[in-house]
Amino acid sequence: MFRSSAPVTPSTSRRRVVFVAVGAAIAALLAALVTAMVSGAFAAAVAPLTRSVPFSPSAEDGLIAAGEMVTLADDDVPAIARLNPALREAMQDAETDAAVEALSFQITSGWRSPEYQEWLLQEAVDLYGSEEVARQFVATPERSTHVTGDGIDIGPIDAQFWLIEHGSRFGICQTYANERWHFELATVPGGVCPEMRADAAS
Ligand SMILES: [Zn+2]
Repeated sequence: MFRSSAPVTPSTSRRRVVFVAVGAAIAALLAALVTAMVSGAFAAAVAPLTRSVPFSPSAEDGLIAAGEMVTLADDDVPAIARLNPALREAMQDAETDAAVEALSFQITSGWRSPEYQEWLLQEAVDLYGSEEVARQFVATPERSTHVTGDGIDIGPIDAQFWLIEHGSRFGICQTYANERWHFELATVPGGVCPEMRADAAS
């Protein structure tokens, strides 16, 4: 009698079981691979929103952290080292005079990178919910005297009032009416300070 197929031996049966098991494993791997590809594609699609690292200013950008005690003598601090030397020298001369009244200047901001200035402006936009209002308090990188090293913010409040009263002896002036802490070289030593601008936007 002709037999079209070989009898199923226990050995062949085992091979089939193995074959089916391997097939199932390959199918599972393929399914996992497709899932990974699809989720990968999804991750790539949302990457611009989730993976871009937001700018965060560092000392290299001129950041002086809140509470950090920085003086005009701090050469190793970029916010101080990158100031216009003429402004820094005038401020040092002023501080020498102010020291007679037991005052010292704490520098809260000096030179800033354009990126740091832009970041400050965007923070202000978020805070006030309006670019127009934000610009009254934070100048654009193109307009800010901090970016050129020609502006400096100081504290504490008694030092601010001292500079407002005596700064012109050194050519130093408050330049924005709404910023009691912000000073620039704006006249000759012993000269008269120009009329203040109302704010950074004017
Ligand atoms: Zn300032």
